[in-house]
Amino acid sequence: MSDYRIETKCVQSGYTPGNGEPRQIPIIQSTTFKYATGEDMGKLFDLEASGYFYSRLQNPTCDMVAAKICDMEGGSAAMLTASGQAANFFAVFNIASSGDHVVSSSSIYGGTYNLFSVTMKKMGVEFTFVSPDCTEEELNAAFRPNTKAVFGETIANPALTVLDIEKFANAAHAHGVPLIVDNTFATPVNCRPFEWGADIVTHSTTKYMDGHGATLGGCVVDAGKFDWMAHADKFPGLCTPDDSYHGITYAEKFGLGGAFITKATAQLMRDFGSMASPMSAYMLNLGLESLHVRMARHCENAQAIAEFLEKHDKVAWVNYAGLPSSPYHKVAMKYMPHGTCGVVGFGIKGGRDAASRFMAALKLAAIETHVADARTCCLHPASTTHRQMNDEELIAAGVPGDLVRLSCGLESKEDLIADIAQALEKA
Ligand SMILES: *Cc1c(COP(=O)(O)O)cnc(C)c1O
Repeated sequence: MSDYRIETKCVQSGYTPGNGEPRQIPIIQSTTFKYATGEDMGKLFDLEASGYFYSRLQNPTCDMVAAKICDMEGGSAAMLTASGQAANFFAVFNIASSGDHVVSSSSIYGGTYNLFSVTMKKMGVEFTFVSPDCTEEELNAAFRPNTKAVFGETIANPALTVLDIEKFANAAHAHGVPLIVDNTFATPVNCRPFEWGADIVTHSTTKYMDGHGATLGGCVVDAGKFDWMAHADKFPGLCTPDDSYHGITYAEKFGLGGAFITKATAQLMRDFGSMASPMSAYMLNLGLESLHVRMARHCENAQAIAEFLEKHDKVAWVNYAGLPSSPYHKVAMKYMPHGTCGVVGFGIKGGRDAASRFMAALKLAAIETHVADARTCCLHPASTTHRQMNDEELIAAGVPGDLVRLSCGLESKEDLIADIAQALEKA
């Protein structure tokens, strides 16, 4: 499917039925798989043959959906995970462990920030956070001899900063490490980070990819371009024998295209067990089939709402990269000429209290900790998702105390604007 356009990949990639086989992907709801001899199965355990033996590591339904996302991103291999959190953890921990260091944009999802700055710190991985708007000099200064990766979000949730992917990729590569990009908000419909130099892409498929607020999930995709062996001293996990698999060296045995995802599956999925369920993968695939159609409408609604808010006298500021007034407009037009995402950030005059009154008065938009589904919803991050951050950290993360995050759904934009207008009157 790799020659087709993104719209065709959304609908058809990942599964091509044979004669008389089901048109929709089959749900292989089975924990285990049968083999004729112990020897056959032994080969799977040694990674000598590929095949399924236990759904904690791999499942055919999950693999079909991972293959679709892989194709959509233009990658070489991909794996589904049970959540976006697991995807980001796997992507980083697959190459950075105790004693290692990672450079990350400070403007990232609150859960990811917590994973990096608290939980992975306890595991011995240190992070240096840099502003996504930093100069090349500042970015280069963040690297250490033990740096193993660079991390950022295409469009950060909830700050909506846009990552200059080429700037981050160039700095990563100059230091011999890969760039990992969380592409959740843009989706491969609007941006394919591999085309701009990223090496690994992650997703919380819980957001636009599922798109209906129905199914939690994540995905890790490898571009298959990073040459681990050229930096073998930095990546012993990929470039030296794995004793738990009879001395296999992943980068040698599975090459550029397969090493990263095979290692993440064989070691991390085996040991941490954050596997997506076949039913979740099936639901995710239903979402993917219409992703290109929905993203266009999410962006159209968000653009109209952002333009309405910008003109409203009760609104202090609006943050949406689709607005020419946004400091990220130019970089967004470079990486996402067809639209960014459906999430708009804005501040209401009167701050925190006015924001609460506004949210309580909304009728169509529900207050939820979720974003990026068919129904419009909104959130005040400072009192919810980012409440573990102090004021300084909030500002560094681009989440001011008065920020309201509005995730524009697929309803009529006229109805949404009318709802927002009446709620602003009550703020
Ligand atoms: C939601 C989100 C995550 C975490 O994903 P879950 O599926 O909730 O675990 C990670 N990154 C971004 C950008 C997100 O929006």
